[in-house]
Amino acid sequence: MISTPPLQTQNPADYLKRYYGYDRFRPMQEAIIQSILSGRDTVVLMPTGGGKSVCFQIPALMLPGVTIVVSPLIALMKDQVEALHMNGIQAAYYNSTQTSREQRDIEAACQKGTLKLLYVSPEKLLTESFFHFLKQINISLFAIDEAHCISSWGHDFRPEYTQLHVLKEQFPHVPTIALTATADKLTRQDIATGLGMVDPAVFVASFNRTNLSLQVLPGQNRLQQIIRLLQQKPNTSGIIYCLSRKSTESLAAKLQEKGFSAAFYHAKMDPDDRTKTQEAFLRDDVRIMCATIAFGMGIDKSNVRWVIHYNLPKNIESFYQEIGRAGRDGAAAQTVLFYSFADVATYKEMLAENNPANLGLQLAKLERMQQYADAHTCRRQILLSYFSEELPEPCGNCDVCRDPRVTFDGTILAQKALSAMIRTGERVPMNLLIDILRGSRSQQVLQAGYDQIKTYGAGRDIRFEDWRNYLHQLINIGVIEIAYDQHYALRRGILADQVLYGGRKIDLVRPDDAPKPVVEKPRTKTESQRDELFERLRILRKQLADEQNVPAYVIFTDTTLEDMARQKPTTPDALRNVSGVGERKLQLFGKQFLDEIVGYVRGRVQAGEKPKGATQLLTLDLYNRGLSIDEIAAERQLTSGSVASHLVQLSKSGYDIDLASLIDPYERQEIEKVIGVVGLEEGRLKAVYEYLGGKYDYAKLTLVAGLL
Ligand code: ADP
Ligand code: ZN
Repeated sequence: MISTPPLQTQNPADYLKRYYGYDRFRPMQEAIIQSILSGRDTVVLMPTGGGKSVCFQIPALMLPGVTIVVSPLIALMKDQVEALHMNGIQAAYYNSTQTSREQRDIEAACQKGTLKLLYVSPEKLLTESFFHFLKQINISLFAIDEAHCISSWGHDFRPEYTQLHVLKEQFPHVPTIALTATADKLTRQDIATGLGMVDPAVFVASFNRTNLSLQVLPGQNRLQQIIRLLQQKPNTSGIIYCLSRKSTESLAAKLQEKGFSAAFYHAKMDPDDRTKTQEAFLRDDVRIMCATIAFGMGIDKSNVRWVIHYNLPKNIESFYQEIGRAGRDGAAAQTVLFYSFADVATYKEMLAENNPANLGLQLAKLERMQQYADAHTCRRQILLSYFSEELPEPCGNCDVCRDPRVTFDGTILAQKALSAMIRTGERVPMNLLIDILRGSRSQQVLQAGYDQIKTYGAGRDIRFEDWRNYLHQLINIGVIEIAYDQHYALRRGILADQVLYGGRKIDLVRPDDAPKPVVEKPRTKTESQRDELFERLRILRKQLADEQNVPAYVIFTDTTLEDMARQKPTTPDALRNVSGVGERKLQLFGKQFLDEIVGYVRGRVQAGEKPKGATQLLTLDLYNRGLSIDEIAAERQLTSGSVASHLVQLSKSGYDIDLASLIDPYERQEIEKVIGVVGLEEGRLKAVYEYLGGKYDYAKLTLVAGLL
C-alpha cells in the first residue's frame, strides 16, 4: 500500500498539506491560525468559499483538547463531520437525533482527548446538562460558525445566538473564533460585543470571488438562452433561481423535456420531497435545480459550476449571496443574470401593495441592483463598491470587461422620445410611442391624431427593435418611467427634465453592443484530452461517492480533479502533489484514481503518443505480471539498466516494489562496499562498474544504488 510518514511539527502549513492536501494557505488563513494559537479572540469575515473551515480546524488539530464548533444547521454539521473524517480528522456532532448511547460515546471520546472537533447547535450547547459536560473536558477553542446569526441587523437572526456570551463568562481562558460571510459593519460590531470578546483580532478578507464570472443577459427568450448555456456545460451542476414557485416547476419541466437532468425546489413543497430533491442535487443525481431563493441555505456543495438568475434579485446582498453558492471549490464558475425591466415592475408592484415600513430603503436597494444589471462598466467593481471594497482595475472576468461596450451620445434620441411622450400626454405605452416616432400610419396612430404632433416621424431612421432597446435603456437609467397603474403608459422619469432642459447628456449603447450570450471557444487538443480524463475521473468519483454514501465533492473537489487531469500523476508521490490530495484520501482512494489515470495514459501510448511517465508505467505493468528485469528488458527492447532504473524511480515515487528481492544479498554487499570506496555522485556508476572489472551489469549496480 501507499506509505505515510508520521507528522511531527508545529508548522500549520504541514497540517494543511497532510490533512487537506493543499500546498499554500490562502490570504489571511495563516495569520488567523496564528492569532488563535496565540490565544487571542478572533473575528473572521470571509466570503463563502473563502476557506473559513481550516482557520479553526487546523488550530483544533494543533492544540491539546477538543474544539467546540457552534453551527446553526444540523444538516450541515453532518456533511462537515463526514468531510473531516475523509480527511482523517477525529470529529463528531452532538444533537438530539442521537441515542443516549451515541452521546455517551462522544462524551467519552472528549474526555479521553481523542476527539479534535465537536459540532453542536446553539440550543444544545446552552442546555444545563451540556454545560455540565463541558466543565469536565479540556476545551481548546470555541468556534462560532455563521456568527452573523447573532445580529438582529442581519438577514438570518437567531435568538439563541445572543445567549452565547455565557461561553466567555464561563470559560474566560478559552479563545473564541467567530466566522461569517456577512460583511457589513453593524453585524461585525454585534458579533464581537455579543460574544463578549475582549479586544479581538478582526480579519476582513476580500469579498472578491475572482473565480466567478459575471454576466448579464437580456431577459428575452430566456428558455432558449438557458438551453444554449447548458449545452455548453454538460455534466455540471448548477442552480437556476426563479422568482415564483410556479416558474421553478414549469422551467424544470421544460428542461426535462429537453433531456436535461433537472428538478425544482421551493418552500411550499412537501418536506420529504424537499429533502429528497436537495439530497439528489448534493449527490449529483440531479444536475440542475430550478429553485426559489429558499434553496441554498445550508448547502455546502462545492461543485456548483454555475448559477443563473432567471429573474432580477431584489438587492445586491441577496444576489451576491446566491451567486456565492457557485464555485466554492475555487474552480472557475459562471454566473448569469437575466435582466428585464418587467421584473423591476413586479417588485415595485409587490412593494407598493405590501407598503412595508422601510419601503424607501427597499426601493433604493432595488435600484442599485438595477444599476448593476444595466452597467456599462466593470460589474465586479460595482459589486465590490457596494460592499465598500475597492477594486482598482476592471476585473477582466465579467461580460463588460470581456466585451467592452461602445457608447454614443444619445441625448437627442432621448429628447425625441421624451418630446413625443409629453406631446401625447404621457398616455401611450411603448409600442405605440415607437409607432409615432417612426411615423407609422397605423389605425391606432391616425385615429388618435398622433400624426399631427410635432415629433411624429422624428425617429424614422431607427428600426423598431432598436427603438425598443433604446427605450429600455432610457427606462433603466431613469429618464423614462413606466406607469404600471396606467396601462403601462410611458411617462417622465426622474432624469427627464434634466435631459430636456438641464443640458444633461445621456450615453446609450448600440443595440449590437448590448449584452449577448458568450460563445465558448472551441477546445484545443490538450484541453479536450484533459476534459476526457476529467470525465473519467468524475465518473470514478461518483462511483466511490455512492459506495461511501457521501456527496461526490466530499471525495475530491472539482479543482482537485482538474489538477489531476492536468498533471496526470502516475505514481503515489506525484498524486500527493495534486492540490487537495491529503494523506488520508491518498490511502482511501489513491489506488483507484492512479489506476484510472494509468489506464488513460496507457490508452494514449496505444494511440501512438508518448505521454510523460508512460515508459515507466509499461515497465511497472510487466513487473506486476511477474517478469524479471531481463525479461522486461527483452520484451520492451530496452537495456536491463534502464529497466532497473525505472523500478528504482517507481519505488522512490511511492510504488510498492521490493527492490531488495531483485538482487542476491551477497552481490549486494560486494557492490555496496565498492560504492563506499568510489562514491555515488553524479555519473559515478561507471566508475563502480570499472572498479569491479565489469563483474556486475548496470542493472544490478542501479538496484543497489537505489537501495542506499
Ligand atoms: P467557507 O466555509 O469559507 O465557505 P470552506 O472552508 O468550505 O469555505 O472552503 C472552501 C473550499 O476551499 C473547500 O473546498 C476547501 O477545501 C478549499 N480550501 C480551503 N483552504 C484552501 C487552501 N489553502 N488551498 C486550496 N483550497 C483551499
Ligand atoms: Zn469586469
